[in-house]
Amino acid sequence: MEYDLLVRGGRVVDGSGLPGYQADVGVRDGQIVEIGRLKGSAARTIDAAGLVVAPGFVDHHTHLDGQMFWDPYGTSEPQHGVTSVVMGNCGLTLAPVEPGGEDALVKSFVRVEAMPREALQAGIPWGWRTYGDYLDRLEGRIGINVGGLVGHIAVRHAVMGEEAVEREATEAEIARMRALVAESLEGGALGISTNRNERHFREDGKPVSSRLATQAEFDALCDVLGDYNAGVIETILGLHTIEHVDWYDALARRTARPVIWQSVLHRWAQPDLWRQQLDRVSRTFADGYRAYGLTNTVPIVQRFTLQNVQAFDEFPTWKNLMFLPEIVRKQALADPETRAKLRAELAVERHTIFHRRWDLIQVSHVERPEHAAYVGKSVAEMAALRGQDPLDAFLDVSLAEDLQTGFWTALTGGDLDATGAILRSPYVLVGLSDAGAHVEFDAAFGYGTTLLGLWVRERGVMSLEQAIYKLTFQVASVYGLEGRGLIRPGYAADLTIFDPATVNAGEPEWVTDFPANTRRLAQPSVGLHYTVVNGEVVYEDGRLSGALAGHVLRGAGARERSVAAG
Ligand SMILES: [Zn+2]
Repeated sequence: MEYDLLVRGGRVVDGSGLPGYQADVGVRDGQIVEIGRLKGSAARTIDAAGLVVAPGFVDHHTHLDGQMFWDPYGTSEPQHGVTSVVMGNCGLTLAPVEPGGEDALVKSFVRVEAMPREALQAGIPWGWRTYGDYLDRLEGRIGINVGGLVGHIAVRHAVMGEEAVEREATEAEIARMRALVAESLEGGALGISTNRNERHFREDGKPVSSRLATQAEFDALCDVLGDYNAGVIETILGLHTIEHVDWYDALARRTARPVIWQSVLHRWAQPDLWRQQLDRVSRTFADGYRAYGLTNTVPIVQRFTLQNVQAFDEFPTWKNLMFLPEIVRKQALADPETRAKLRAELAVERHTIFHRRWDLIQVSHVERPEHAAYVGKSVAEMAALRGQDPLDAFLDVSLAEDLQTGFWTALTGGDLDATGAILRSPYVLVGLSDAGAHVEFDAAFGYGTTLLGLWVRERGVMSLEQAIYKLTFQVASVYGLEGRGLIRPGYAADLTIFDPATVNAGEPEWVTDFPANTRRLAQPSVGLHYTVVNGEVVYEDGRLSGALAGHVLRGAGARERSVAAG
């Protein structure tokens, strides 16, 4: 047998951006070995006539750090052609950790990423200390490839314990943090992530630990990446201003490492900001430094109830209420004086992420039959039906339903021309799936299938070749995933095979497959026929194979160490 797998008769779009071409792809021992008109025999042949054969997609913005232990495919990733994921974004990781420090990390994940605590408690098999140990625990038990950034939040807790959420670090502590970052890079971390989002709190209402870091601390940690010539720096700030781009620029110049910042999107609250951000960052690239903005192909949708909501965290009285026990919260929401405060806070003229527009908040679910007419209407429309002020209608309906009324709103992505221009920018990375996070409110695994279906086929904002490049080689190159992201001999046989005439993302749907019987949203795809990881078919027309074909992807810091060790 010449090949383990032969993909016959497809149109190869190889990830480079070059025009696609008709060719067979031969795979042996997990690698692509030959491309062209192939005649050899194969253990398995896939007929790809009429389909596109592309490198597997790299979903670089995920929070699957815990989920990979109980769900080795990070579903619904392979359903959307993803063969590699990067975890550890936004400062959040499960390593390094000192014994007894595990719950501090869970506390951060539960609230920032809205994950069910019971699932994390039941599903994470703690027992590691270093980042390398953590990655070792995943090796051999994953169905897709997994790499990760080391999170500043974990690094800070590992050195300072609970004081990490109370105060600045001393110089000695910063030195110990630097050693942990170095140890993490040597263990295989693909870089470091931090979180300076003033809206990101732990479950107990304290800020996530990285928010207490000084600029000097953050610089000192990022300098380790410069010293190692390895890794990317991923950041999340809360508000989005043009001045932030100067911060990314300085970081990129200081370290000569790629900086990845969140985010460049069309925002209702600041409709021209995206253009200013891209203009400013073009100067960074013109000088030979890299500061990539992150964008998404789908609007950032927030789904919430008044039982669990972050949309209002920018407003102090609202935020305080959300941390009160539910029974006390309900009393406060019914109290006219508190309502007056809530109303006044929303009315203050200042820059916020939340658009504060009742006409853009939709009712998605009601509990009581007499409220059925509100579903699909905006809060403003619901208020008009009730002859009430919108805030009162919003709170009264929620209170009548035990705070279980469901709402959603989109803060971004409303202007199609702007979104098309952002997607095409060479300074922008596509992909903000946040897979593994907000699992009860959203599923955005399908950012890639949406790019191919909605933005390439239906709206024609870029060529198929350009879109595939953005989902594969561009990301693999920035993150230093060597030997992945292209269809070339010697590259890993990570492939996705789809029908360009139908490919798209499906509607998220409820499944109860998380530990402790918790629920979450999964997302099917359309027109995506095969996903191949390291030469093994892991997904085929709606079914996962069960093969644990994934590898842990380690960064250049680990390679340097193994070379030094001979
Ligand atoms: Zn994130």
